[in-house]
Amino acid sequence: MEEYSKLAIPAALDELRRKLDGPKSMTPEQEKTLSRLLLVLSPRDLAYLRAKGDLELRQAFPVHVTISCDGCHISPLTYERHDCLDCKQDYYQLCRRCVHVPTEKHMFPNNNHSIEHNMTLFKFEIPRNRALRFRGDRELRLKPSVPAPRYSDGDPETGSKGKFLAEICMECKKEMDEEFYACKTCSEFSLPHVILCGDCAFKPEIASVEKHYPQTHILTLIRNRNTAYLYGTAPNEEEKSNEAEPTIKDLVEQVKSLQSRLDTVDKRMNRLDTMETSMNVLIQLVRQLAGSSPITTSS
Ligand SMILES: [Zn+2]
Ligand SMILES: [Zn+2]
Ligand SMILES: [Zn+2]
Ligand SMILES: [Zn+2]
Repeated sequence: MEEYSKLAIPAALDELRRKLDGPKSMTPEQEKTLSRLLLVLSPRDLAYLRAKGDLELRQAFPVHVTISCDGCHISPLTYERHDCLDCKQDYYQLCRRCVHVPTEKHMFPNNNHSIEHNMTLFKFEIPRNRALRFRGDRELRLKPSVPAPRYSDGDPETGSKGKFLAEICMECKKEMDEEFYACKTCSEFSLPHVILCGDCAFKPEIASVEKHYPQTHILTLIRNRNTAYLYGTAPNEEEKSNEAEPTIKDLVEQVKSLQSRLDTVDKRMNRLDTMETSMNVLIQLVRQLAGSSPITTSS
């Protein structure tokens, strides 16, 4: 029984495994021990130990039971989970290790995702459809939580924009050049921007902001503010200019296809014309056959 309790948590995790090609939670030695224990323990003891292991697991750390990491296929996903805000597909989730690893180095690389994508961080279990809502309302509700990029005073004479000013972590006052975490929950309560570095975002307590609750608030990992739903217009313009060229080609194609359809209609009309003349000839013939009596046709 004691031996089992040493591997209870990884065993409980492996019981919940869904993606079988991902890594296991139990080490090979633990697996060997477990298969030996399965032979010697009574079914009743085993059921009790398994239930106890489940409980211990739930108390140890957050378990996203139905979610697996799209980078390494570990399932279920444990601890923090990052959901992508920018991938074309609705669901793309990464574990706390894969989120900081470039996509091409993932065990299961996905070309749609990029390490530049903004991600929502969930530190607790949340059903998929509820998590999806955070992606759905990103245009409306994410922007207030993220400060606009700032620049030092530019030179109006040369027209230069000035130097990009890095965001500063509220807690440790560190300058963050590339990515930072912004609290979405705080902004929903109209509190000032809560901006944290990658270390402070995971601290169980934050001294600098009173109303920010690290365990229950939802943070966003911001890596790119130049997106349509934040402060960029570039992607939209790009889309438009990308569309512009094919549109002209498309129009030419459309004109061509319309022309060919007109041609067909013309041909049909001609055929109808010839049919009408043959009809007239027929009518004449019938008239002649009927003798001198004229047949009136409603033409
Ligand atoms: Zn992973
Ligand atoms: Zn992505
Ligand atoms: Zn910090
Ligand atoms: Zn907060």
